[in-house]
Amino acid sequence: MSHAAEVPGGAAHEVRPGEPLIEFEGVEKVYPMGGEEVRALNGIQLLIRRGEYIAIMGPSGSGKSTLMNLIGCLDTPSGGSYRFKGIEISALGDDELARIRNREIGFVFQTFNLLPRADAFHNVELPLIYSGRRPAERRDRVWHALELVGLTDRAHHRPSELSGGQRQRVAIARALVNEPSLILADEPTGNLDSKTSAEIMRAFDEIHALGNTLVVVTHEEDIANHAHRAVRLMDGRVSSDEVRTPRSHGSSESSRL
Ligand code: ADP
Ligand code: MG
Repeated sequence: MSHAAEVPGGAAHEVRPGEPLIEFEGVEKVYPMGGEEVRALNGIQLLIRRGEYIAIMGPSGSGKSTLMNLIGCLDTPSGGSYRFKGIEISALGDDELARIRNREIGFVFQTFNLLPRADAFHNVELPLIYSGRRPAERRDRVWHALELVGLTDRAHHRPSELSGGQRQRVAIARALVNEPSLILADEPTGNLDSKTSAEIMRAFDEIHALGNTLVVVTHEEDIANHAHRAVRLMDGRVSSDEVRTPRSHGSSESSRL
C-alpha cells in the first residue's frame, strides 16, 4: 500500500524505482575564506537511484554537510555537474532551486525545526500551503502523513507538548507530506536517546519500505546499519561506497506494509 496511491490528486513521480535520481560528476565545492580557499568537496562522483536508502558517513570536516546542502539544492557546486531527475542543478537560479526543494525534497534536521506556536497538524500542513494545495487536499494529506508516523492522536499538540521522538515524527510527516522524490535527513537522531533513536529509525525503515528514497547523514554505525548502502567521505572525496544488508531487512515491520 503506497501512500502515493491513496492521496487524492497525488502526483505520480516521473522517476521510476531504480532510475537515476541524483547524479554527481566531478562535483567540487570551494568556500572562499579570507583570501584563501577551502576545498570542501574535491571531485565527488555519486549516483543515487530512486528507492535507495543511503547513509552518508565520515569524520567531522569531511564534507558531509556540504554534500547534503548540494543534494538538497540549498547550495550549488563550484565545479562539476549535479543532475537531479536529469535536471542540471548548477545552472538554476534561486527561485528554481526553491521550487525543487519545496516539491521534490523533504528535509529532516537534527533540531526538528518545527514552528513552536503551531500544532503538529499545522507544522505538517506548511509545505502544502507553500506548494499551493487546496484546503481539502491539505487536510487529507496531513492526516495521512500523521497516520504514517503514528501521531494522529497528537495532531493538536504543539512541539512543547510533545516528546523529542514525537517532535521528530512530526518533522518526518512534514518531510513526507508533499510526496517528495527524496527524503534528506542530517543527523536525525543526534538529539535523541538511544531508545527514541531506534523508534525514529523504525519509522525511516517503514518509509523506505513504502518506496521512498532516503539519504541520511550520520556518524553513528547503529543508524547507518539501517541503510542499504553506506557512502563514506574523507577530505571532500568518496573514500568508500559499499552496499550492505540492512538490519531491518525482512523484518515483520516491513513485510507488514
Ligand atoms: P562535515 O559536515 O563532514 O563536518 P562540512 O561539510 O561542514 O563537514 O565541512 C567541510 C569543510 O569545509 C571543512 O573544512 C569546513 O571547515 C569547511 N566549510 C564548511 N562550510 C564552510 C563555509 N560556509 N565557509 C568556509 N568553509 C566551510
Ligand atoms: Mg556537518
